[in-house]
Amino acid sequence: MLSYPFPDIPAPGATLEVAPGVQWLRMPLPFALNHINLWLLEDGDGWCIVDTGYGVAATHELWERLFAGPMQGRPVTRIIVTHYHPDHIGCAGWLQAATGAPVHITEAEFLTAWAVREGLGGWGRASGNTHFASHGLDATRLEAQATRGNSYRTGVPTLPATTVRIFAGDTLVIGKREWRIRTVFGHAPEHATLYSPELGVLISGDQILPRITTNVGVWGAHPEDDPLMQFMTSVRSFGDLPADTLVLPSHDRPFTGLHARLDELLAHHAARLADVESACAAPRTAADILPVLFKRELDDHQLMFAMAEAIAHLNHLWHAGRLRRSRGGDNVLRFARPGTAD
Ligand SMILES: [Zn+2]
Repeated sequence: MLSYPFPDIPAPGATLEVAPGVQWLRMPLPFALNHINLWLLEDGDGWCIVDTGYGVAATHELWERLFAGPMQGRPVTRIIVTHYHPDHIGCAGWLQAATGAPVHITEAEFLTAWAVREGLGGWGRASGNTHFASHGLDATRLEAQATRGNSYRTGVPTLPATTVRIFAGDTLVIGKREWRIRTVFGHAPEHATLYSPELGVLISGDQILPRITTNVGVWGAHPEDDPLMQFMTSVRSFGDLPADTLVLPSHDRPFTGLHARLDELLAHHAARLADVESACAAPRTAADILPVLFKRELDDHQLMFAMAEAIAHLNHLWHAGRLRRSRGGDNVLRFARPGTAD
């Protein structure tokens, strides 16, 4: 059973204390997922910011209100970014310039932010479209993707010029409290989470969310990857935390019931893998199995994530030997249960 100990949600430009020295705030997002949770940790005379919001003027204005209001004009000591997605890193460059505070982030997240922003290292639209074409996405839907441009830059107009690297196993002393860095995989390349043993608080980023499931996708830079295996291994890795841990997720509300949520996430993916496996009684592409995983209509933006997620399920079953993979004369990859005919 999950429980949500805070009935109220902080209003725009306001904060709400969720543990001693830990403030919760919310920033709007221009997507179906309409908000992100960010965190302020008291750090001596100032504040450590955890995650930064989508990098647009509306978020900057809210930060200005927070500086003058709840943050009481106290300095920002450091900025910690959990991962490279635009709602997390979007304002990091702006905040660094505005406050002079250093940005702490793992190296893979920082370099991936640059690669996605610049369309390099397999992260460009062309690589993505080659990848999706090889998984059966039709020409019309591919063309719609090709005309979308680089949406990442909209939410990440600048990036920090320099950073402080953080590593799995690091202990950061923030204020008087120790926060341990644990890195997790599957959703992002080297996603950082923070755990305070003294407070019993886990800042889980996008890795552990209470009600929606985290996107786990295979992208053009790493077409053979098995991020679902990485994700499930990372989910299990939180099993050592106390049962009464207060989890601070990037979306929805703070909750307790971590172990129940870990079990739900593992069961959810096991069920979806079984659905995909049984849909592959005859050879199927990732595009073919979209309706198995997604019952709703998908717009062009959602389609990209849906394709990446469908490939993640197929790749996992293929790596586990539960499906075989073949490339047809049309250069498209198809997956089928072992023993089925092409
Ligand atoms: Zn994310």
